[in-house]
Amino acid sequence: MGYQTNTSFKNIVLIVIFIQILQLILGLYFPVESFPNLIMQVALTIMTLGLVYYMLKGIFKATKEVGESNQKLNHIFESLDVAIWSHDMKSDKLLITPGIEKLYGRKQEEFYNDTLLWKKVIHPDDMYTQEDRRKMIQSGRSCTSTYRIIKPDGNVRWIQDRGIPTLDEKGDLIYFSSVLFDITDRKESEDQYRSLVEMSPDIISVIRNGKFIYMNAAGSRVLGTEDPSQLINKDVSEIASEQDILLIRESANQYNGSAKSENLIFEIKAARMDGAVIDVEVSMMPILYGGKSAVQLVGRDITQRKKSEETIREMAYYDTLTGLPNRNMFKQNLSTFIEKEVSQSFAVLFLDLDRFKVINDTKGHSTGDLLLVEVAKRLKAVIGQEGEVFRQGGDEFIILLENSRKEKVSCLSQNILDSFVKPIKVTGQEFFVTPSIGISMYPVDGTDQETLIKHADTAMYLAKERGKNNFQFYNESLNRNTTRKMELEQELRKSLELNQFMLYYQPKVNLETGKILGVEALIRWDHPTLGMVPPGEFIPLTEETGLIVPIGKWVLQEACRQSKEWEKGKAGSIQVAVNISVRQILDDDFVDFVQGVLKETELDPRLLELEITESIMQDFKRSSEILHKLKEIGVSISIDDFGTGYSSLNNLRFLPIDHIKIDKSFVDDITDHSKHSKNGSIVKTIIDLGQNMNFTIIAEGVEEEAQVDFLLKNACHIGQGYYYSKPLPAAELENYIKTRQKFLSEE
Ligand code: C2E
Ligand code: MG
Ligand code: MG
Repeated sequence: MGYQTNTSFKNIVLIVIFIQILQLILGLYFPVESFPNLIMQVALTIMTLGLVYYMLKGIFKATKEVGESNQKLNHIFESLDVAIWSHDMKSDKLLITPGIEKLYGRKQEEFYNDTLLWKKVIHPDDMYTQEDRRKMIQSGRSCTSTYRIIKPDGNVRWIQDRGIPTLDEKGDLIYFSSVLFDITDRKESEDQYRSLVEMSPDIISVIRNGKFIYMNAAGSRVLGTEDPSQLINKDVSEIASEQDILLIRESANQYNGSAKSENLIFEIKAARMDGAVIDVEVSMMPILYGGKSAVQLVGRDITQRKKSEETIREMAYYDTLTGLPNRNMFKQNLSTFIEKEVSQSFAVLFLDLDRFKVINDTKGHSTGDLLLVEVAKRLKAVIGQEGEVFRQGGDEFIILLENSRKEKVSCLSQNILDSFVKPIKVTGQEFFVTPSIGISMYPVDGTDQETLIKHADTAMYLAKERGKNNFQFYNESLNRNTTRKMELEQELRKSLELNQFMLYYQPKVNLETGKILGVEALIRWDHPTLGMVPPGEFIPLTEETGLIVPIGKWVLQEACRQSKEWEKGKAGSIQVAVNISVRQILDDDFVDFVQGVLKETELDPRLLELEITESIMQDFKRSSEILHKLKEIGVSISIDDFGTGYSSLNNLRFLPIDHIKIDKSFVDDITDHSKHSKNGSIVKTIIDLGQNMNFTIIAEGVEEEAQVDFLLKNACHIGQGYYYSKPLPAAELENYIKTRQKFLSEE
């Protein structure tokens, strides 16, 4: 509006001047007294007067407008949190806008009256800022400084002061103005942010052109120095690997702003100043820093977390006892094997320690554990670089052999067996531990994890059945057996209640006279659909599940009851031998139980014989105690399957044992004429030693006359086997005895 007033004012002045010139010219051409001149003069004078009036009105209006604008401007200055301070050096005139009152809490006049007041209000601690400022202003350079002032009420405020000097041609300061802002709020929040950043336990840094340009205290501590300045201008590549930087760069390039922020979080390795490598989780964000683009990095030292993760992984994938990778790792490796190369062949070996449960039960878990550690060492030593050994759990191990043909697997399996020939020494004692190994081959025995594992397990059961301490490859026909095993386990649990067990009896015969000296009670499981299940198939299962204890009790009761019945009947007194598992013998109330049954059935203890296996030797002290108590009751004790359990005859000497039953495999050897045959020499040795120690020797599994001859020739007088009779139900045995006695007496 001011501009418009100015232009119209100028135009009016020009028009008035033009009219005056016109009047002068008219005066020159027309006589002054002439009528037209008179009229013209009057008209022009009226016009001039009109214009002057209009002009004066305009001037008045403009002055009024300026006054109003000034007022408005003043009002704006007053309302702003800004004050302008201007100083004309030549006239020494000071002009301060009213905003100063708001900023400094003092009126303009106070500053006009005391020209040094501006200095007096500055906080003494910030006075130092003024010297530099003075120098800059004097040299004509603008300068922005921040300092605190103290208000009359004692309040301290932060002021930002932008000084702009004007110099004359000689370079003297002639004019100076200063724009003052109150930046207390901004400064406080900045300080808060700064302390947040400085005190943050996380790494906060700013990177530009691949170099750190800011690093907070936590960041420098994490990176191995107390002084953040040591990291400033350091190349990021000195701390992070090229690979990590590349990865970050690639992800950052792909980042289009819409992606989630997690996408820009990385786990990287960082080299500390002291050379140690740590794990750091970092997130990146493009920012403006000091007006230029940069990257803000926020990070955290996750070395400890990584270690914990590693520990958890170790726990999940490694067996803590033996340090071997565990079944989880095995499954992982197996699936990688399968995915890696379909045409490759490899082997899965399932290994179960024979009779390990006995050691665990008799010697305690700590001994068992030590033994497992030694077993793991042996396995690792044998396998070496050929494959990997895993602990499946308990006394089961798994071996994965990469790129193996059947011949090589056989060879390695044999090496494993050989490595267990020597006893393992633990807590000053020697233990004979043997493994049974089942093998499945990829891809012939299965192309997926589950099948390979199942088939190796099946083959392992076959190895157990085939006398333990051997290895077996899986073959199709085995499959039927395992399904049966699982079926049996379920069925076994209800078998006792359903009265599905019965005892068969096999006579023990005097080889010389043919006289029946007693019988061995052998359990049979007569299952309605599975048929007659042989004990070799389900007894190990009952031992595994603990069902052997109640089943064993039933056997003892039934055998004693039967013997008593025979005694009462026509068959007469027949000694009955009952097989007892180690698990039963070590049961706390076993001796009492035997005594109770004898009392209950009123059987003469001399008519009861207990057959135990060499595995009782694992806990010699305890077994010896129990056997002595049993002996006191008056029952006989024999060692069954002798020769298969690695116990030396010498140790047996100290136990109250009456008979030793030579295992069938040795008796078989008598008539075996293959090149492996020892031609009965083992039987001979056992008989010799037994006789020296006053044990009666009984030969098991006698099937041929030639064996009887050999045994008799070597002074073994008692035998048992199909040659005489198969195990028979009680009634049939009674008949057998009757006819046999008759036959014998007739003879
Ligand atoms: P064991 O105590 O060594 O019993 C001898 C096994 O050899 C019996 O097998 C018997 O039938 C078999 N046998 C006897 N003579 C011959 C022969 O001339 N040729 C052949 N091929 N075999 C013969 P069975 O009855 O199948 O029992 C197997 C094993 O089951 C027994 O071996 C014994 O260790 C266990 N067992 C049987 N009944 C019980 C029981 O009530 N309790 C416990 N704990 N184990 C039992
Ligand atoms: Mg037996
Ligand atoms: Mg036997």
